[in-house]
Parts: sequence; structure tokens; C-alpha cells
Amino acid sequence: MHKNFKNIDKVVFGRGSFDEMDSILAEKRVENNQFFLFVVDHYFKGKSLENRIPLKNEDMILFIDVDVMEPTTEQIDTIRDSVLNSKGLPSGVVGIGGGSIMDIAKAVSLMFTNEGSSTKYQGLNLIKKPGIYHLGVPTISGTGAECSMTAVLTGPEKKLGLKCDWTVFNQVILDPDLTETVPLDWWFYTGMDTYIHCIESETGILNNAFSHAYAEQALKLCRDIYVNEGSGQTPENNEKLMVASLMGGLSLTYSEVGACHALSYGLSKILKMRHCFANCIAFQHLDDFYGESVSEFKKMLSHHNVELPQGLSRNWTDEQITEMALVAYNLPHMWNHALGSDWKEKLTVDSIKELYKRL
Ligand code: NAD
Ligand code: ZN
Repeated sequence: MHKNFKNIDKVVFGRGSFDEMDSILAEKRVENNQFFLFVVDHYFKGKSLENRIPLKNEDMILFIDVDVMEPTTEQIDTIRDSVLNSKGLPSGVVGIGGGSIMDIAKAVSLMFTNEGSSTKYQGLNLIKKPGIYHLGVPTISGTGAECSMTAVLTGPEKKLGLKCDWTVFNQVILDPDLTETVPLDWWFYTGMDTYIHCIESETGILNNAFSHAYAEQALKLCRDIYVNEGSGQTPENNEKLMVASLMGGLSLTYSEVGACHALSYGLSKILKMRHCFANCIAFQHLDDFYGESVSEFKKMLSHHNVELPQGLSRNWTDEQITEMALVAYNLPHMWNHALGSDWKEKLTVDSIKELYKRL
């Protein structure tokens, strides 16, 4: 079956485009109880960007510390309940931050109109009603969460997204200037998430002309940003990375991610390792899957003096490695893409454990 992918309704791109938000929101302010909910990465509290947020009298703003934990179902339910109890249904939700804030904004917008706990809706097409208007402003580039049709949440039982057409943002504002304060290590890890999305999208059975066109261009941009002459955190490269992130996300949506993301999910679920960092930890050891791309990745690492920890698995128990291998094994769509439909003949939980022992 062919994928029928829901794209973002509207996109603004360009340095300084953040200031278009006021006029973009104006026509939406007549909806529901006529106020907006802003969810903002707490990094921006007290920074100049805070004063540029077009807050009106009745609007609500929540600053969220995403370093404490990745978005949880409980957090989403609490935000939804407290806003509904205090002011009723907003006209819409605006998320300003990285992948974590993008997911919070998407999930909260859906949960305003879907009853009960968000745990009920973790999975594909379980959401019953469209959410309210939601606008995303990424402030760190790489995950592609700005364009994906999922909002990844950790619940009491599973780490799984609210995934459906209605999850996708109605509007995205891509202002590369907002990323200029990203620390070098995060700039590297999140950008490498884009690079790995493209390599994995390209290297598997679901690759096609559509996904290839996005991946090819996004990889070209990644090389400019991370390895070619003129590489580094410059305003021009911040523009390129924001576009590459979007294109990498679109590429994998029309294709799939593979072995690295499967291993990364295990690292995140069992060891609480952050998504982009976990991808880097795994990718450096996957020469047999991704060949020259791993050499290129290592070149980019040394080019920016980023050092990844080695020998981590020496401190993991066999039980932890088994748990991670089970998480990874239970992502059949990724292995199907990476190894082919007969992947079960090529891969076992034990062979995945061996992959983890390389890390
Ligand atoms: P993040 O949102 O967790 O933020 C990472 C760090 O960067 C935080 O410390 C944050 O405060 C800081 N930061 C953000 N913008 C900044 C700026 N402009 N200047 C300085 N610091 C800044 O990072 P992320 O890697 O973008 O997102 C990871 C999350 O995204 C995970 O929860 C993961 O599950 C989720 N994710 C979602 C999708 C999806 O399709 N929905 C895909 C991949 C990952
Ligand atoms: Zn990723």
C-alpha cells in the first residue's frame, strides 16, 4: 500500500520570520475561548525572545524544562486539565522549542478535544477527533519533529507517539536565527539525527524517488554544514540545517529509518538516553550496515572536536542489554526496511545483543 502522508498546512521560512507570528495568529484568535496557550522551552525564560512572543491579555504561557524528562502522558493530561479548568478551550497552541516542545504542543492540541488520558491514544490512528489549531516554532534543528505525524510520549507502559493526520502542525515558522544559541554538542547530535535519517532512509527497501530526492538534498546540506569548507555554526549554516531537518523528516516519512534508530530506541527506553545522542552512540559502530557513511560521520566528529563515549556496554548488565535488544527487535518496520522482508532469518534478539555490546 502506498503511504498517504499528511503534510504541514502552512510554512514560513527565513531569518526573522518569528515576528510573523502575531499576524498569523490574528485570524485564529476568534476561535473557541479566544486565547492562545504558548508552551515554551524554559531556556528562553528571561531571554530576548520572550519579549517577542506576541502575548495578548488572555493568553497563557508555560515555560517547560525539557531536560528534567522527555514529554510524558501525565504531563500532557495535567496541562490539558489545568488549562480547561481555568480558562476553557484555547483558540490554539503554540510550541516554541526543540523536539520535546514540538511533541508537547502537538499532543496537547489533540488532547484538548479527546477525552480521558493520553495513554489511551498512544499508537496509530487511535485519536478520535481533530485537535485544536497548533503552530510549531523549532529552536533547534534535526529531529524533524516539526513535520512528523507523531507526538512521542512516555507513558506508564510504553514510549509511543500519538500518531495520526491531525497530529501534524497547521503552521510551522522556521526562523533559523532562533537556533544560533544552541550549544556545539547539541548542534552536532541533533544535526546528526538528520544525517542519520537520510542515510537510513536511503539504505533500505522502502527508498523511492520521492524519499531519495529529499534525502539527497538534505545530505548535501549536511555536508556543507558539518564537513565542507565553510562548515560550522554560521547564520548560513543555521538556515541550511533547518531546511535539512525538514527534508530529512520528509524523506523518512516516505521511506523508513533503520538499524541505528532501532538500537537508539532501546537506549532511550531502557537507559533514558536522549534520542539524538543515542543515535550517534549507535551509528559510529554500524559500519556493516552503513559503510562509508560511518567513516564520513567520524570525519564530521573530528572536524568539530566532538568526542563520543566509548566502551559504554562494559557497564551494562546482561539483563539491560537483553531488555534493549527486545525493544529494538520489536520494531519490525525498521528491520524490514534495513534488511528486507526476510529480516527474521538474518537477525535474532541475540544478534541485536551483540550489536549493543559493540557500543
Ligand atoms: P530537546 O527539545 O529535548 O532540547 C534539547 C536541549 O536543547 C534542551 O536542553 C533545550 O533546552 C535546548 N535548546 C533548545 N533550543 C535551544 C536554543 N535555541 N538555544 C539553546 N538551547 C536550546 O531536543 P531535541 O533533540 O530537538 O528533541 C528530542 C525530543 O524529540 C525527544 O523527546 C524525542 O522523543 C523527540 N523526537 C520526536 C520526533 C517526532 O517525530 N515527533 C522525532 C525525533 C525525536
Ligand atoms: Zn531520529
